[in-house]
Amino acid sequence: MSASVAPRLPSIDGLLRHPACLPLADRYGRESLLASLRQLLDELRSSVLNGQLSAVEISPDVLAGRVGERLAQQQRSHVRRVFNLTGTVLHTNLGRALLPDEAIDAVQMAARYPLNLEFDLASGKRGDRDDLIEGLIRELTGAEAVTVVNNNAAAVLLTLNSLGARKEGIISRGELIEIGGAFRIPDIMARAGVRLHEVGTTNRTHARDYEAAISPRSGLIMRVHASNYSIEGFTARVPTAELAELAHRHGLPLLEDLGSGSLLDLTRWGLPAEPTVRQALLDGADIVTFSGDKLLGGPQAGLIVGRKELIAKIKKNPLKRALRVDKLTLAALEAVLGLYRDPDRLAERLPSLRLLTRPQAAIFAQAERLQPALAQVIGQPWTVSAVKALGMIGSGSQPVARLPSAALCLRPQVSKRLRGRCLLNLEAALRGLPIPVLGRIDDDALWLDLRQLDDEPAWLAQLPQLQVES
Ligand SMILES: *Cc1c(COP(=O)(O)O)cnc(C)c1O
Repeated sequence: MSASVAPRLPSIDGLLRHPACLPLADRYGRESLLASLRQLLDELRSSVLNGQLSAVEISPDVLAGRVGERLAQQQRSHVRRVFNLTGTVLHTNLGRALLPDEAIDAVQMAARYPLNLEFDLASGKRGDRDDLIEGLIRELTGAEAVTVVNNNAAAVLLTLNSLGARKEGIISRGELIEIGGAFRIPDIMARAGVRLHEVGTTNRTHARDYEAAISPRSGLIMRVHASNYSIEGFTARVPTAELAELAHRHGLPLLEDLGSGSLLDLTRWGLPAEPTVRQALLDGADIVTFSGDKLLGGPQAGLIVGRKELIAKIKKNPLKRALRVDKLTLAALEAVLGLYRDPDRLAERLPSLRLLTRPQAAIFAQAERLQPALAQVIGQPWTVSAVKALGMIGSGSQPVARLPSAALCLRPQVSKRLRGRCLLNLEAALRGLPIPVLGRIDDDALWLDLRQLDDEPAWLAQLPQLQVES
């Protein structure tokens, strides 16, 4: 093509009046349509100029179609539902606990209408948002008082800063943990203005180690639940009751960061034992912190419970204002806590507990039922089998415990050299579905753990769209 001939692309005005573009203006607004058309024409103009494309090939119909796709893509929400078939139930990267209907209704109400967030309806005076759930928390944990913040990391930060700033915080070397996402106890302590005084060793810490560390500079003793690792073998740790007695003898508060914590003894549902908030308080911890969206099964939140005068001090800290929870969270949290008043029906009503307690036989039956449909869609070179598998609770609850589950196991029948690429392509194709499907690659296969596959119809309906690059 000679450089003197200007590429004749359709004009913007012409396109705006084109019948295929009129509905787009209605749907997405004239401004968005115009911006997308301009962008597309600019791109095409450069392709034409450098000879990759001829202007005559570009019809207004094709352009309208392309701009429609582009606008639809832009309009699509970035917050998207996925199928969590990773085998990890409380997956931090996938939003942790799923809320029960009761909480979803409460969130809707709180989103739609004004509410008594900080208004005492009985007296007509200003209220405190923590009061909305204090009664329930006290009933469920035996705590004297409670305050709620944005997440458990915030709960730990706020508690340390309120009770230990400019003093020393005594903690075992076996509990200086990293939770992930840059939450490390020594760093949080430093940010909270508490000087770290570590005692004992990684595997063994004794009462005498704590005792020897106590001085007029001490502000508190801290205990952190080993959420995401376990120390086994030649180990020693001071029981909470003994540590509390020691702390109180020296006039120091004992903080216990339970991480997940649990409001009820999970062994009644056949799950591994996790320390309960009530027991930590009974053992003498003065403040206990735990997450709202781990085993509790509620919204993201950090709960701080314990002795009344300490909670009062925490609530007076200006940081509390910066870390407080919003109305949607409080509404959801109250609804979830309400379900705990009827433990007999909790496993039916609380999605996280229902999923965690699904029997392996039921999950395996589901895998066998879905195997033919997946095998048919995926074709060569894959074998698809229903197999028993092991999942995890997740979110640092019982890191070494495994949940007996079942999965669809997809194995590429190709040479070892090609296997890795094959698996990555399948993984990408599953992620590319309208509702992305997330599994895990392990042992030269892709595993779809079905513990959390509730919505079978939606999963099956999109299967025919699966296109795996070979
Ligand atoms: C998970 C966890 C945290 C952080 O809680 P978030 O709710 O994720 O902020 C803190 N401490 C422990 C021991 C944990 O397990």
